[in-house]
Amino acid sequence: MRYSETGFNLEIDLTRGSIERVATDPKATDLHVGGLGTNAQILWDRVPADVDPFSPDNLLIFSTGLLGGTPAPGANRTIITTYSPQTLLMGYSMMGGFFAPELKYAGYDKIILRGKSPSLVYIWINNDKVEIRDASHLKGKGAVETQELLRRELKEPNAQVAAIGLAGENRVFTASIEQGRSSASRLGIGAVMGDKGVKAIAVRGTKDINLARPAEFLELCNDVLKYIKYRNENPVPNVMTILQGLGSPQEMLHTDEKWHTENFMWGNARIRRKDFWNDQIEKKWKDTQLGVRKRLISCYNCPIKCGAIISVPGISTYMMKCFSKLTYTMAAFVDDLDFGFRIAQRATEYGVDGFSTPQIMAFAFELKEAGILTDADFEGCPSDNEGKFFWLLDRIVRREGIGDILADGTYWAAQKIGKGSEAFAHNNIKKHEQLPLKLGMLNPVYFLMYATGEKINITQIEGQFPQSAFATQEEKEEFVSDWFQVPDEKFKQYVMDWDLRGERSNPYYPTVDMSVDIVDWQEMMHYIDDALGVCAGLSSFPLKPPYHIHNYPKFISSGAGVDMDEEGLKQVYRRNRSLIRSINVRRGLRRADEKPPEDHWKKRFPELEEKLLDAYYKFKGWDKDGIPTKESLQALDLGYVAEDLEQRGIIKDEQG
Ligand code: SF4
Repeated sequence: MRYSETGFNLEIDLTRGSIERVATDPKATDLHVGGLGTNAQILWDRVPADVDPFSPDNLLIFSTGLLGGTPAPGANRTIITTYSPQTLLMGYSMMGGFFAPELKYAGYDKIILRGKSPSLVYIWINNDKVEIRDASHLKGKGAVETQELLRRELKEPNAQVAAIGLAGENRVFTASIEQGRSSASRLGIGAVMGDKGVKAIAVRGTKDINLARPAEFLELCNDVLKYIKYRNENPVPNVMTILQGLGSPQEMLHTDEKWHTENFMWGNARIRRKDFWNDQIEKKWKDTQLGVRKRLISCYNCPIKCGAIISVPGISTYMMKCFSKLTYTMAAFVDDLDFGFRIAQRATEYGVDGFSTPQIMAFAFELKEAGILTDADFEGCPSDNEGKFFWLLDRIVRREGIGDILADGTYWAAQKIGKGSEAFAHNNIKKHEQLPLKLGMLNPVYFLMYATGEKINITQIEGQFPQSAFATQEEKEEFVSDWFQVPDEKFKQYVMDWDLRGERSNPYYPTVDMSVDIVDWQEMMHYIDDALGVCAGLSSFPLKPPYHIHNYPKFISSGAGVDMDEEGLKQVYRRNRSLIRSINVRRGLRRADEKPPEDHWKKRFPELEEKLLDAYYKFKGWDKDGIPTKESLQALDLGYVAEDLEQRGIIKDEQG
């Protein structure tokens, strides 16, 4: 018997219209745990290295994690994996909500889509009965609207529906997949779904999940719930408000946006408005947010409530998560928060990434100001900031006029437009738009995370180590006093010795070796979460979370019946990390690609940055170009990967 997973994947070939329920190999769970890890293994094994993201041979994998759907709080992530049209590398994007648990209750750990449907379809998974159905009546419908229409059509109000909007249908590179109160937004996952001709997947499951040692598992779950309660009552002192609690950044809860509006850049990630926040704005923004926020909501089996139901007069109700209330507002230089809530409703129906899309629009208007794009490109565009953004959003998702070029993101748009526009696409890592954050002094830990992160989304790679030094010795002592989540006591010393100014401050402290240790810890927790299907908001993202390296092995052992200890879990992380690196290396990723935007920090230290990369690669068992060595791959049971890279001439004899 399989525990905490079903042991079956659903394989759907859209070209042939075939559907198979395929038993999986339990050895894959031992080696990769599940979720992201087993997705990566499937992508490596089954998708040729040179496949175009829009080829029928590209796979689109929807995966639960090993703990998904179990009583473990927050185990609700759907991990969606494919080759990204924007980066051309492996793309993996996650969504919370309710989809993954429902899929597991229907009897499947993953849905693997291959091929392309000749016409628009949706997939209806009702426990053992799975059908590919015509979706021509849903063409052009909004992503949220589609979820509701399908529930009604199927007469199944409890079905969970993951859908794309117009942007996905039109293969916009920033297209998202929307579901429940969440979305998988980054890396063009929705464009691949649209390319495959799939408008939506609806799922209803009513089966049970087996646990290996239920009493032990439930006790661990209760400990987590108790700790969440404790943390909610005891916020971390001396850090900014959104870092004090658990969950994804608590944007729907907090209305104090002084830090974001003054430190994040406005427009196309260029201009800081240091004096923006004042009493009048604070009151107005608070009234606006509380006025449209009907109630705070959670994902499946989580008490944190990071999202909110938003109801703006005159437009449909929708659910907002995370940071999108600010991204459009700040990109468009609109001082009124109400605009953010209004445009985010349309953007959610279209199904676009709320981080990249506003930057693409701001980029376009900057090109117009610079005379690189012309009035002819913007014929019919209103002149006010709000109107401009609504107008351009419509053009992008429809791929009309200049919108067709912009729909590929700033990097590819700049390649097509030329005339110096490349300099305006200044905020990318690996061809992908990043947070519009520009800082003063290089932070060595963040440098490494930005440069080398395969997830290509900073909000999802940072984590349990504080973002900056504490001001006083007392604050440091207070922070480390109850910090039991650390994998090693040395991290406490790193915090104790870290100062805001002077010799032991950024960029030379944390030192190169310490920075590598810290990044490794943060990455480890994210890779484990993404294999288990647990929300980062309860584990890898916040300070002092309820899940950590000490209790996770117990969850895996008692839940899945897989014999796991801390060292074993660390080894799984290293294996998954190097496998994903190898997938991307096979697609051409090299050291030269691993660099944050040039203007991310004002003060850069090229020599130090090279040392950081050298040390990080060495620590991982990779060569100077970021390619895993044959020996390191063999030590991680990835000898077959080493052989492949050797045959392709990527690993060379002299490498070690
Ligand atoms: S912490 Fe927030 S984002 Fe994560 S599962 Fe809970 S409600 Fe969802």
